[in-house]
Amino acid sequence: MNNTDKWLNLRHSIKSCQKCEGLNSKELGTENAPGYGNTNSRIIFIGQSLCGKPCIEAQIPFTGGSGKLLDLAFEQANIEKKDIYITNVVKCHPDGNRKSEPHEIANCSPYLEKELSWLSPKIIICLGKDAWTHINPTVSRPCVKTMHSANSVTHVHFVYHPSFIMKKPKAVREEYIRNLSKVIVEANT
Ligand code: SF4
Repeated sequence: MNNTDKWLNLRHSIKSCQKCEGLNSKELGTENAPGYGNTNSRIIFIGQSLCGKPCIEAQIPFTGGSGKLLDLAFEQANIEKKDIYITNVVKCHPDGNRKSEPHEIANCSPYLEKELSWLSPKIIICLGKDAWTHINPTVSRPCVKTMHSANSVTHVHFVYHPSFIMKKPKAVREEYIRNLSKVIVEANT
């Protein structure tokens, strides 16, 4: 299977997935969106679960809402969102914006594992607890860790989810955007 086909197959598996009761339902407004962007990106963002209507309609994670903070970081880093890879631990939108259930995270994790094994990022940005836990269950606060594999070294930044930062004062939001943009620039140099 060539590179394009494997990504198309993954996309199809996610779009037709019915592993979690009540999720990926048009009627219930819990549809999913697969990862979005450049599969050759040197930096990938992992969020917790898909946002509601704007993300479902656009089929792009982090559309509108707290995703605006990421948009500002991309702008500062002089890069377009389509040139970065962005995905979620849980590809569906949990009804009422609730937290994902452990079984939903477990059901969806194989998709993220596939994405991670096919991408070869220099930097991973984990946004929020569910993303932190997926990559490193011992992480309980923002930090940076290095992951070594046979042929590569990946720096993983465990940072707060932008929806948490949205509620903070302007100076905190600006610092968050500035820090993210610096990491994006670093990944691409
Ligand atoms: S959350 Fe993931 S595993 Fe569950 S139905 Fe949605 S796509 Fe499938």
